[in-house]
Amino acid sequence: QSQDRVFNFAAGPAILPENVLRKAQSELYNWRGSGMSVMEMSHRGKEFLSIIQKAESDLRALLDIPPEYAVLFLQGGATTQFAAIPLNLCKPDDPVDYIVTGSWGDKAFKEAQKFSKPNVIWSGKSEKYTKIPAFESLEQNPDAKYLHICANETIHGVEFKTYPTPKNQTGLLIADMSSNFCSKPVDVSKFGLIYAGAQKNVGPSGVTIVIIKKDLIGNAQEITPVMLDYKIHAENNSLYNTPPCFGIYMCGLVFEDLLEQGGLEEVEKKNKKKAEILYNAIDESKGFYKSPVEKSVRSLMNVPFTLEKSELEAEFLKEAAKEKMVQLKGHRSVGGMRASIYNAMPLTGVEKLVAFMKDFQARHA
Ligand code: PLP
Repeated sequence: QSQDRVFNFAAGPAILPENVLRKAQSELYNWRGSGMSVMEMSHRGKEFLSIIQKAESDLRALLDIPPEYAVLFLQGGATTQFAAIPLNLCKPDDPVDYIVTGSWGDKAFKEAQKFSKPNVIWSGKSEKYTKIPAFESLEQNPDAKYLHICANETIHGVEFKTYPTPKNQTGLLIADMSSNFCSKPVDVSKFGLIYAGAQKNVGPSGVTIVIIKKDLIGNAQEITPVMLDYKIHAENNSLYNTPPCFGIYMCGLVFEDLLEQGGLEEVEKKNKKKAEILYNAIDESKGFYKSPVEKSVRSLMNVPFTLEKSELEAEFLKEAAKEKMVQLKGHRSVGGMRASIYNAMPLTGVEKLVAFMKDFQARHA
């Protein structure tokens, strides 16, 4: 990483690969001889069509997305999908099941209450969202229209390592993958719908990706605004209205980069290595640092940790910032620290953080 960049441990918007930023910079003013910036292009012109089509086909290659799934590039963030999903897949009185393993799953559940009859079949709240339930113990409603999970809880650092089998009439599992999208291979065919805001692993904020089984499209409730109706977006190849063109272009550059790295299996190996050295440093600190999350479900992407001497937190952040490691403060609802180590965080960034943590401990233990 270049000297003039910081190691940005933010949870999102988050660090992007330096080579991707440089490529975008080189094309910013005149995209590939078109005489225009991507920001100035008509979304219906041949240049932008080639950009969005390539982004989609690269994402399909990365995640091995089966042809019976549509890929949509939308706006409104993952938060908009909390409403769009029940609006598209349920009638107002339909039951749906939610497993709530953190704040984001809880938000998705609360929004779904406006458009369906969701039920929380498991919540980790009483244990401060540090666990994933044993799937056998879950009592699913056989009449539920889908089972919803948040695959990686960004704030609490809890990640599903395997997925529950939906035991409902439709057999549909739906996952918010905002904070671990494209961080590892996923068997898309296990899901009815996967959604993710781009701004953690795959691009800037403003783009939301939805991967949906095509036969689920076309049953939206009548009150559904056009912008939330998957049918409208699928029929128009995500070009019903003006899409977030520049953001989609950036996502496309990230997808190309991930393919060039060897695909998601390679990416996962790197992510595992980074997470391992950070969790090891926490576990080997003799309690100076602590991870609250149950070991088997610790996130590879978001690593919350506390300092035994919480009065040292401000000093920790100040010293880390001096060494160009920023955005390490934990979410206000959890406190402590959080290091988000998405795909684009280089191994050297995590190594530097770990060396700093050890040195800080030696000076303050
Ligand atoms: N879901 C998860 C897991 C998130 O981490 C976030 C944002 O941080 C959201 C949903 C909300 O996403 P957005 O801000 O794109 O609406």
